[in-house]
Amino acid sequence: MKTLHLSVFLFISFFSIMTAQANVKPFLFVGEKIKAGTKKSVLLPVVSGQDSTVIPITVFHGSKKGPVLGITAGVHGLEYAPIMAAQALPKHLDPTQMSGTVLLVHLANVPAFLQRSLMVNPVDGKNLNRVFPGKSDGTLTEKIAFVISTEVIARCDNFIDVHAGDANNDLRPYAGYYNYFDMPEVSEKARQMAVSLGFDFIVQFGNEKSLTEESIYCSREATKRNIPAVDIECGRMGIVEEKSVLQIQQALLSLMRHLQILEGEPASVRNPVMIAKRTSVSSKYEGFFYSDLTSGDYVKKDMKLGYITDLFGNHLADVICPTDGVILYKTFNPPIKQGDGLFNIGHTN
Ligand SMILES: [Zn+2]
Repeated sequence: MKTLHLSVFLFISFFSIMTAQANVKPFLFVGEKIKAGTKKSVLLPVVSGQDSTVIPITVFHGSKKGPVLGITAGVHGLEYAPIMAAQALPKHLDPTQMSGTVLLVHLANVPAFLQRSLMVNPVDGKNLNRVFPGKSDGTLTEKIAFVISTEVIARCDNFIDVHAGDANNDLRPYAGYYNYFDMPEVSEKARQMAVSLGFDFIVQFGNEKSLTEESIYCSREATKRNIPAVDIECGRMGIVEEKSVLQIQQALLSLMRHLQILEGEPASVRNPVMIAKRTSVSSKYEGFFYSDLTSGDYVKKDMKLGYITDLFGNHLADVICPTDGVILYKTFNPPIKQGDGLFNIGHTN
């Protein structure tokens, strides 16, 4: 009797899984047909004149219906924590247990990663996170942006771009989302996504009436397409810190729970600090930059944040704080050119 019950139960379970999978159509991605409950890794070629590269992308197509989530890591090639988190993510994702689809861009900027290039793609000297939506006939970086915009972002219901402090930046982790007053529904969905990432600091990008400028930024391209979009900033100094890698991994899995792609409750933070405005402090001189402050330090208007010397070590200027707030990120090593960012300060009131 027991055996009979078990076989009936197994049959019904098997049958319901098969029926659910049968209801979910294959996901078509750059000519590949990815069946429900399976995953596929693709090296997407990008060619611009004599220059070329690839974008490694894995598509996880769940066995049940759900939203399409796009994830990009490595838009900046020296931001290792996001890149390493994206490397580790596939072992936590089983498409037979997922509802919906995840498009994971493991590394958006392969040339910058392989050449250890700060902020820009060494092939054309352009910053990938300043050229969105890209151009179909542009330079290699513009073409990468175009491919990500059309093949990944355009396919998504929700989008997240993962960054860290670059190799010259000490950064305090935070999440961010786009908030435009004439897009209340998209902005609110993005806010909820940001909260689900579990960071105790959340920066509100935009915070104005409407998005009228060009996208420029990867996740703002999603916002421009009415897709709720968030960012993570976690990791720093061009190093791989296990703590940051794990924090990003947990945040991405928590976001997938919030979107019900994965089962379980998201690890939301109850009362995150909302940062509605930021001020950048940049250098008026080139030379050496000195500062004893660390990311996460609270600062006061008019206090001395650091100083700059010329190439002989002569004092050129003190760096004075323009506002009360908290240091989200700062340049932590000596080389400074005129116009380089020294501090990014989040306003806390
Ligand atoms: Zn970045």
